[in-house]
Amino acid sequence: MDLITMQTLQTDFIQEPARSVPVVKQADVLVVGGGPAGIMAARAAAESGLSVSLVESRGFLGGNLTIGLPVLGFLDQRGRPIIAGLPQQFMDRLRRRGAASEHRPCPLHISLTLVDAEAVKAVALELLLEKGVDIHLHTFFASPILDGERVCGILTESKAGREAIRARVVVDCTGDADVAYRAGVPCEKGDARGGLQPPTLMFAMNGVDTEKLRLSLSREPKNYVADIIPPEYFGRNRQYIVVGLRRLIAQARDQGLHLPTERVIVITGLRPGEVWVNMTRVKGVDGTDPRSLTHGEIEARRQIETLVKFLVQYVPGFENSQFTRTAPFLGIRETRRIVGRYVLTREDILGCRRFEDAIAVGSYPVDLHRPHDSDCTLEYCGDSYDLPYRALVPQRVSHLLVAGRCISTTHEAMAAIRVMSTCMALGEAAGRAAALAVREEIGPGEIDVAVLRAELRRRGAYLNG
Ligand SMILES: Cc1cc2nc3c(=O)[nH]c(=O)nc-3n(C[C@H](O)[C@H](O)[C@H](O)COP(=O)(O)OP(=O)(O)OC[C@H]3O[C@@H](n4cnc5c(N)ncnc54)[C@H](O)[C@@H]3O)c2cc1C
Repeated sequence: MDLITMQTLQTDFIQEPARSVPVVKQADVLVVGGGPAGIMAARAAAESGLSVSLVESRGFLGGNLTIGLPVLGFLDQRGRPIIAGLPQQFMDRLRRRGAASEHRPCPLHISLTLVDAEAVKAVALELLLEKGVDIHLHTFFASPILDGERVCGILTESKAGREAIRARVVVDCTGDADVAYRAGVPCEKGDARGGLQPPTLMFAMNGVDTEKLRLSLSREPKNYVADIIPPEYFGRNRQYIVVGLRRLIAQARDQGLHLPTERVIVITGLRPGEVWVNMTRVKGVDGTDPRSLTHGEIEARRQIETLVKFLVQYVPGFENSQFTRTAPFLGIRETRRIVGRYVLTREDILGCRRFEDAIAVGSYPVDLHRPHDSDCTLEYCGDSYDLPYRALVPQRVSHLLVAGRCISTTHEAMAAIRVMSTCMALGEAAGRAAALAVREEIGPGEIDVAVLRAELRRRGAYLNG
């Protein structure tokens, strides 16, 4: 300890002493990150009877499924189900507990499925524990273990200090491509100017008269205008997302309120009177930099008081409502994306492109919370598009797959594939691919994708054609 202190005084860097790290586990498949993609990847791999470990930095599973968001995109733009298999089984379990809604079509969001965050945490654990997945919570991925360009496991950091887990295949579901990036996989971040979609700290309110809100939208469309969604929709639907009411924002700004967004975004909860508000917004935050993240958390929390005041004073139905709680962490929309064997583009999405190595189907539009102003771009393809396996396979490094929002796409395509239904389907595909690779004793980049596609179909996943 004295030695480290001395060195710190002398230079800006310190040399960490070399140390022996205990190997606490040897797994066939190791999944890093227990969000929508990671839960599915771990379950899928474990269904093949392999030994599977999962490392998650938080004390619960679920990732962004636990921050008050609805799951978007189970249906396509024509109202047909396009996400099946394990993600649907997960939703079915939630529904049996009264903890998820039906998949409700929505003109703006294609489809929304409300979920209860606490039930998500419990059901995710249940899904993995019943298949014998070895779960490590409160454990942070620190560094990959590499043998040349082959990933052989990871080092973790936790209250127990540094430990190692060896694995035959690693699946990076961190959302930030932490494993891939540290292993030397080429990664990109943001748009051409490095701009990232801004993060949002979700918060909940109760005592909201959600009936009054929707009826105001349906009966007074001149006063209360939603983006894209027609007034009749609100006349028919009791569970919904309102995006818009821009005139109210402008009015409040004229009267001196400093609001961080151009649009109201509120989501009805599963419980009567509860809504989740998606309106804090902090520009310029980089979710891979802890100092930037700290600024984001502080600034977003600061915005809430004004947003609550705005909702109560200006938005119908909120007159007698109260702020109840924030989500457990700042929601990060975008950080790194790997550069894989194929980079999915906006043109692929908008052109409804099909791929021979398709392992999932998406339909959610390019929904870009623009990095450099306070608004959003929405672009629809009118149907659905394929997600190719090659976008999960990193360049340069072997025995590693990536699933979830950080697969290989452009900035614009990522704004479409980032929804949680798609991330879950990608996770299932990655888990089944990892299992195939382990069985055949090859890297996941070498598997026969036709076999993977057949396996996905056999297990109930939806693929086009
Ligand atoms: C504000 C906001 C609103 C959104 N709205 C919607 C919406 O309404 N509907 C929708 O479907 N999608 C929405 N999205 C997008 C969606 O939530 C994400 O793109 C999606 O959750 C990504 O899934 P994932 O599994 O890749 O990552 P995540 O959900 O981020 O999960 C990653 C997991 O990995 C863990 N992890 C990360 N790094 C490490 C590490 N180093 N060591 C160990 N564990 C680690 C994390 O703790 C987390 O549990 C929204 C996103 C945001 C931020």
